[in-house]
Amino acid sequence: MVRRRQIYEGKAKILYEGPEPGTIIQYFKDDATAFNAQKKGTINGKGVLNNRISEHVFTLLGNIGVPTHFIRRLNMREQLVRQVEIVPIEVVVRNVAAGSLSKRLGIDEGAQLPRTLLEYYYKDDALGDPLITEEHIACFGWASQEEMHDIADMAIRVNDFMSGLFAAIGIRLVDFKLEFGRLWDGDYSRVILADEISPDGCRLWDMETGEKLDKDRFRRDLGGEVEAYQEVARRLGLMPEESEEPTVLDLDKHRKKKGG
Ligand code: UDP
Repeated sequence: MVRRRQIYEGKAKILYEGPEPGTIIQYFKDDATAFNAQKKGTINGKGVLNNRISEHVFTLLGNIGVPTHFIRRLNMREQLVRQVEIVPIEVVVRNVAAGSLSKRLGIDEGAQLPRTLLEYYYKDDALGDPLITEEHIACFGWASQEEMHDIADMAIRVNDFMSGLFAAIGIRLVDFKLEFGRLWDGDYSRVILADEISPDGCRLWDMETGEKLDKDRFRRDLGGEVEAYQEVARRLGLMPEESEEPTVLDLDKHRKKKGG
């Protein structure tokens, strides 16, 4: 037997070589980190839920014509994606003030922003992912002007779509992080949406109660992390409701017990 090759291990995912050239397998772990990995923990079942939620969102985005790396989900913790060259920029889209924006600029958490705000952070753990401007991106050649135009365009489209998707299930999309990758075809490349979209990288607040349904539960020691992620999955219609059917988490537990 040949063991598949691990390409990279990140904070929440492991990447393995895929079955065909140009493909990669994303394995979703239960590990959680915050504050640039100074806080570490495990959220049992998170990987299963994020795999499923991300599959759902990427599929819907693909359906409206946003190019993404997603190919298909393989099993409870893995999905097959296109191999891309990751653009070293984290794109944060904000509709409501929260987190680092509130802290940096002294804006009350929860204040609706007068317009959608796009922010860029340089992907570098050692530097703590510093906030950068488009000037830095152009100056250091992290992405071309054309790529930045496409990235901003896609980020706004994703935001419009996801804001509606979540509003329809009583959730306020406060902010979220996106990553993009270059897909090469000969001498040409285009940028497509990569990584994942899950409660790990979004702020999702219940519209009625304001309850946080995202990783802030872990960051701020609020507890109930898995229940919150499960609630997001349930409202998206991804969990069997009030039936005898086992949930994705039950199945994962069963598989783990069997050593699968
Ligand atoms: N975010 C992320 N990864 C990061 C930094 C931020 O997924 O490395 C997400 C975060 O979950 C939130 C949004 O981007 O939905 C904005 O995060 P913010 O800048 O407020 O940073 P934080 O409060 O997490 O330090």
